[in-house]
Amino acid sequence: MPELPEMEIVARRLDAALPGTPIESATAPGLNALKTFDPPLSALDGATFTGVRRRGKLLMLDVDTPGHGPLTVLSHLMSAGRLQLFDKRASMRDRTARLLLRLPEGRELRIREFGTRQRAWVKLLRPDDLAADESLANLGPEAWPDPPPLRELLASPRPLHSLLRDQQVITGIGRTWVDEILHAARLSPFKRGDDLSDEQAEALRAAIVGELGRVVAHYEAKVDLPLPEKFPKPTRVHAHQGQPCSRCETVMEAVFYEDYVMTYCPHCQTEGRVLKDRRLSRLLK
Ligand SMILES: [Zn+2]
Repeated sequence: MPELPEMEIVARRLDAALPGTPIESATAPGLNALKTFDPPLSALDGATFTGVRRRGKLLMLDVDTPGHGPLTVLSHLMSAGRLQLFDKRASMRDRTARLLLRLPEGRELRIREFGTRQRAWVKLLRPDDLAADESLANLGPEAWPDPPPLRELLASPRPLHSLLRDQQVITGIGRTWVDEILHAARLSPFKRGDDLSDEQAEALRAAIVGELGRVVAHYEAKVDLPLPEKFPKPTRVHAHQGQPCSRCETVMEAVFYEDYVMTYCPHCQTEGRVLKDRRLSRLLK
């Protein structure tokens, strides 16, 4: 699941490689992926990349087109999408392909999606429509590198684990890095946002900046083009249940949800309490 650090490095690598590169042609083999029809995808034929940007977990490929002026390809990879820049073209049998942008010398920028559900999406937008697009207009402030003070931002009776992943509250954090952040801040995933002291809010803000910065720095050293299918995620907490906490050696516990896991250290985060396993309690009902 690409979150802010993964998309940050994708944006950096593509922004270093693509500007000035022409697009020979564009196709969207997964009919479901392209969510806009005006301007048509063919507007990208003969366009030139001008830049690549990130906002939260969203990626923006800016292009200058011959017939429609400046346009932006806005994309969200959701949980199973990948964006890679290949030296060779995709096989027509590549059923994971959602958007193919053909570049000179046989290179190809490719959005692929793994798994059975098609959820990754792409929009081709004019500048005015981009600014107004609901996926961007409703986003909260960036979680990194300089999030605002959190006391007011998180003043809601919801647990931190869901509040921090709410892109309209603060944008960029998902299921993997939220576990690392809450562990770094020594806060329970179920602590309510409106129950944070000034000190805890400051510790949480420092943990967000520190953890996301640590991951971006790790990728900066490890990740290069064509961009990996699987990122080398430097996790210490998320999905490490059953292993010793890196800080206190207590065995870490987890709560299992339908399609993800929430990992925490009982000693560092929940005053020794082991939280109820939702999956187990549902089976016992
Ligand atoms: Zn611990």
